[in-house]
Amino acid sequence: MWCLPYRFAQEVMKVYLDGQFVDEADAKISVFDHGLLYGDGIFEGIRMYHNRIFKLREHIERLYWSAKALLLEIPMTPAELVEACLETCRANNLREGYIRLIVTRGKGTLGLDPRRCPKPSIIIIAATIQLYPDAVYSEGMTIATVPTTRNLVNSVNPAIKSLNYLNNILARIEANLIGVEEAIMLNTDGFVAECTGDNVFIVQKGRLFTPPLSAGALYGITRNTVLDCARVMGIPSGEPNLTRYDIYTADEMFLTGTAAEMVPVVKVDGRVIGDGRPGPITARLLAAFRETTRHDGEIIFA
Ligand code: PMP
Repeated sequence: MWCLPYRFAQEVMKVYLDGQFVDEADAKISVFDHGLLYGDGIFEGIRMYHNRIFKLREHIERLYWSAKALLLEIPMTPAELVEACLETCRANNLREGYIRLIVTRGKGTLGLDPRRCPKPSIIIIAATIQLYPDAVYSEGMTIATVPTTRNLVNSVNPAIKSLNYLNNILARIEANLIGVEEAIMLNTDGFVAECTGDNVFIVQKGRLFTPPLSAGALYGITRNTVLDCARVMGIPSGEPNLTRYDIYTADEMFLTGTAAEMVPVVKVDGRVIGDGRPGPITARLLAAFRETTRHDGEIIFA
């Protein structure tokens, strides 16, 4: 029987939990943590590329914005969090992969009052990453708009990257039911907000468009990086409200996210986008994006 070499078989993932590294099996939190009871907490999904943590400072900055919006006091400084993320990668000997950084409201009572939770918990998981198959990037993805509306900016603002993802999960279930992997979520005005775990872009006559944050989108780090790449490459871009009409008539479309990077979309709601193949501007932007991952971010192993 083929088996893993001994040294790999023995390797146990180390999870950062409130200032300590614990084995994966011991990485547990209280059943009274309001992150579990109410989805009261925040998180970041971050990539490691080529021995660097990509855009780590931007992710930490967004985490603090999410915390501020929820009046959640992170019991560490941004600099300490940067170091803790780097240490978690080192503890797991990882140079490539994915980091999940979570801050929960912490242990409280069964009541929902956050004042009963004296100490937020910080969890950092560094792991390898399961990517979409290559064919998704070379042939493009098929997606659909779904009935579940994106959260109102005046209720749980989608700009807050909170542990409460039920809005997105409902939309993902609807996507699954019709056999596609991602869903476009509209806001209550019928404008495109974003996908369940990615931001949306279209290309029309050589110009790049993505919905504004006010439409109900996350302030995506990949979104920002792609907009920066477009600026450097001289591709004009804008952030207008977009309708399904704009998507159906676009020349190209793609999604952006930390895990997905840039995924071309070739069919939406059964309608072919552009000529049904990943477009040339998408390809140029993806190449530029991948180039930035080579030299942007904090170095893990000196
Ligand atoms: N929108 C949602 C709802 C997300 O969860 C994410 C992250 N997976 C994104 C957009 C993309 O953001 P980023 O590029 O920062 O990963």
